[in-house]
Amino acid sequence: MTKEEKVEQLEAINAEVAACEKCPLHQGRTHTVPGEGNPNSPLLFIGEAPGFHEDQQGRPFVGAAGQFLESLLRSIGVSRRQVFIANVIKCRPPDNRDPEASEVSACNDYLDRQIAAIDPLVIVTLGRYSLNKFIPGQRISRIHGQPRRVGNRTVMPMYHPAAALHRGSLRREIEADFAKIPDVVRAARQLVHEQPDEPPPTIDPTPPPEQLSLL
Ligand code: SF4
Repeated sequence: MTKEEKVEQLEAINAEVAACEKCPLHQGRTHTVPGEGNPNSPLLFIGEAPGFHEDQQGRPFVGAAGQFLESLLRSIGVSRRQVFIANVIKCRPPDNRDPEASEVSACNDYLDRQIAAIDPLVIVTLGRYSLNKFIPGQRISRIHGQPRRVGNRTVMPMYHPAAALHRGSLRREIEADFAKIPDVVRAARQLVHEQPDEPPPTIDPTPPPEQLSLL
């Protein structure tokens, strides 16, 4: 799929999300937060649900957790605009409560279609809700930082950045897990290259080359 085709598909999903009333969360939203970023990124980050600031701006990870995520990205030489960032849930749950199973289920198709359009090499799950989508029944405290193959992709479980803001002891663990990402991407790319039927992944040529060296 060309970048233009990916953008077209993602914009179509955004338009559907903007009009979505499939679950009660549409009633309290200010903006939908479908996700944003580089549609050609080999890395897709998936968090949980929009919070207050995300709901206000219609963008994912723009509050304190977002600032920490951006610093984590910088620590591996990657800028926010080089990757794609989305959430399991596209509308803010009231008072930032946990999403309900019925809400996750109602919203699931949008995320599946985003993944299909972006076709990332590596999905980084941030928190237990996105972990549960790919690796159900596992505790994040046991498998964070341990990449595994799920279908034809690599899934890298991580704590949610907000968790480190609430529990300072997790900060070093998240930083250590993030430091593994470049090697995880390289290993995933190597696997793709070993499958001759699949074309090699493309990457947006616009970002500065030195920042792409780690990816
Ligand atoms: S959370 Fe998802 S399913 Fe629910 S209204 Fe928003 S976009 Fe629709």
